[in-house]
Amino acid sequence: MQSRADLHMHSTYSDGTLTPPNLFQRAKEAGLSVISITDHDHVGAIDEATAIARDWGIEVIPGVELSATVGEQDIHILWYFFDHRNRDLLDHLAFFRSERLKRAERIVEKLNGLHVPLTIESVLDQAGSASVGRPHIANALVEEGLTETYNEAFMRYLAYGKPAYEKKYRVSPQAAIELLSSAGGVSFIAHPGNNIDDKVLLELINAGVDGIEVIHPSHSPERVAHFQGIASEYFLLVSGGSDFHGGKRNDQDALGRFFIPTSQVDMIRHRL
Ligand code: AMP
Ligand code: ZN
Ligand code: FE
Ligand code: FE
Repeated sequence: MQSRADLHMHSTYSDGTLTPPNLFQRAKEAGLSVISITDHDHVGAIDEATAIARDWGIEVIPGVELSATVGEQDIHILWYFFDHRNRDLLDHLAFFRSERLKRAERIVEKLNGLHVPLTIESVLDQAGSASVGRPHIANALVEEGLTETYNEAFMRYLAYGKPAYEKKYRVSPQAAIELLSSAGGVSFIAHPGNNIDDKVLLELINAGVDGIEVIHPSHSPERVAHFQGIASEYFLLVSGGSDFHGGKRNDQDALGRFFIPTSQVDMIRHRL
């Protein structure tokens, strides 16, 4: 079997339900050789994961997932092989997390306005000290019996265009890429098949991203081929992973199913 890398998953440092050791356990069972824990706006998993990677016989690559805004849309950028102790980077991530907390408060206010009696405390019970996001709000809604399921919480209230949707702090992709370039590393457009049309994709390529996340659970075989073609045309790197979060989502079997060969990771490393 070719050795497999999954460069996209979330831990309890953001909106995943598994701690880094739990993720290694699951990654081992799924037959992965290389992983990257790409928490939203948080690099806390990296030291913890690096310390135990050897015990599990799995290589861990520093990773983070950032949000940027294009027009009204939120897009995600994955970043790898950077210096996760870079002061400027840490300051910016702390700022983004504080903005996430304010946004969660605005979402709760909107829900209350819709006569959904959720409290910010129940959201923070879900998030703990993690980077707070809509999945915590969805879980709190289910926990409080205010929606039946996690997906219903998004479909009724939290998804883009729904009545309790709130934008994040606005950062342009250019600004995000510039910010991170001081910490080194390589950037990828995350899951472009979700919400990015080809025009925006080209803008991001012009803004200087190094690669495209081609393999992702939301990409059909046709989309995979399409993004692979764009990557070849613009000499971009290719990444991929499961975007595994665990918990109340239906992604329990994603680990081990969405991966890239570790030879692609070597190509990413060579670009540094
Ligand atoms: P946030 O960072 O707070 O915007 O939340 C982003 C997270 O919410 C991502 O991990 C997505 O997988 C999840 N998410 C976004 N939209 C949906 C949706 N329509 N249904 C389920 N999960 C979603
Ligand atoms: Zn997430
Ligand atoms: Fe994402
Ligand atoms: Fe993600």
